[in-house]
Amino acid sequence: MERFSNSRRRFLEASAAGVALGLTGCASTPPPGPKGGRVAIIGGGYGGATAAKYIRMLDSSIEVVLIEPNEVFVSCPMSNMVLGGFLTMNDITTPYTALAQRHGVRIVRDMATAIDMEKKQVRLAKGDPVAFDRLIVSPGIDFMWEALPAMGSAEAQSQVLHAWKAGPQTAALRRQLEAMPDGGTYVLSMPEAPYRCPPGPYERACQVAAYFKARKPRSKVILLDANPDVTSKGPLFKKAWADLYKGIIEYRPNSKATDVDVRGSTVKLEFGDVRGAVLNVLPPMKAGAIAAPFITANNRWCAIDWLTYESKAVKGVHILGDSLLPGPLMPKSATMANGQGKACAAAVVALMQGQPPNNSPTLVNTCYSMVSDKLAIHVASVHKYDGGDGQMKTVPGSGGVSAAMNETEGAYTMNWARNIWADTLG
Ligand SMILES: Cc1cc2nc3c(=O)[nH]c(=O)nc-3n(C[C@H](O)[C@H](O)[C@H](O)COP(=O)(O)OP(=O)(O)OC[C@H]3O[C@@H](n4cnc5c(N)ncnc54)[C@H](O)[C@@H]3O)c2cc1C
Repeated sequence: MERFSNSRRRFLEASAAGVALGLTGCASTPPPGPKGGRVAIIGGGYGGATAAKYIRMLDSSIEVVLIEPNEVFVSCPMSNMVLGGFLTMNDITTPYTALAQRHGVRIVRDMATAIDMEKKQVRLAKGDPVAFDRLIVSPGIDFMWEALPAMGSAEAQSQVLHAWKAGPQTAALRRQLEAMPDGGTYVLSMPEAPYRCPPGPYERACQVAAYFKARKPRSKVILLDANPDVTSKGPLFKKAWADLYKGIIEYRPNSKATDVDVRGSTVKLEFGDVRGAVLNVLPPMKAGAIAAPFITANNRWCAIDWLTYESKAVKGVHILGDSLLPGPLMPKSATMANGQGKACAAAVVALMQGQPPNNSPTLVNTCYSMVSDKLAIHVASVHKYDGGDGQMKTVPGSGGVSAAMNETEGAYTMNWARNIWADTLG
């Protein structure tokens, strides 16, 4: 990609069709004014909201403008418990008010549609452009609908849900499960790795199975995994399926979806089709659309300098969370996005103060999974910067998995969630 220092009147524009380089219009706004400079952040999820809060905590002379279309934050972690009927949408929803009132983050409720690197502005769907000195981009994931041709239309997407961005689809999928007669089959199709939240689909199968066991005992879960085996906490999930959901969950590895027959309620596979009363299809994923100009790997993910979180494609733009090309064995998780948000905030503040960033950053990850209403398991890892090749490497001997599913871990899971919500938004 052409460097912006060499380009004139070029900008980065996102549209429904994708993102492209093109000529700027002539919109103008006042230059950034605050004493410490201004950081614009696209996306108020786990990465972006955390970065917004921590920049303000580290240097309150820096103005932070957080651009996010949603009125409230709805958490993907714990959203599978809503499908199981053990939590409500309200339980996984947090307002953005503390970020604004306690930390002085300016929240702009809008969608970023384009990034103008020459003018240093983010363009919005509705409001005036937002000027910045530095930009952080944390839009999460978007779906590669082209991998499932019949799912391209809005109508198909309103019938066969993913519920992989928590919010209205979570509530809608729960309603579909409630409306399904006892004896029906719920089919969950998951893509090849990498995708958002490695253990998430397996946890979802457990949660839906827990609901069926209690309320619709003749119903079944079929989990179609495009991967050759369970990608996270395999032995622990398999034990949960055998001990808790024997005869309810059927796990089928090497079952990659090639399309969906929406009217026929059928997932089409490379070999054979699977019909269900409720389909839940997770397409392959890539960086959120607005991050498309910064994609450097496999047409999907954005590589960064791990010391500054600066894009390898464009200077002055920092990228976080699920949009990243991760380090080896680094999951796309909320714990990671939250940790990256803090590390990025510290690096951005250092750069804006003319200081060097931390030259030895470390990130930790813990992913809990609820396998019933009370029992949980976890996997943990530590990732440290390696100055040799600039990668974040897992620290040998660090982390690991639970010895067995148990209720203590179940209590830890809820505490983890409350803690990360407070850390991200409180
Ligand atoms: C069912 C499920 C369960 C999960 N469970 C866990 C778990 O137990 N533990 C764990 O650690 N992780 C879990 N995850 C993963 C976790 O949710 C993600 O890794 C995390 O949300 C990534 O953070 P992010 O900031 O990159 O993206 P997000 O949190 O998705 O935030 C992206 C934000 O950007 C906004 N946005 C996008 N485009 C634009 C734009 N153009 N303009 C303005 N705003 C925009 C979106 O509205 C959104 O608010 C789970 C995920 C799922 C789906």
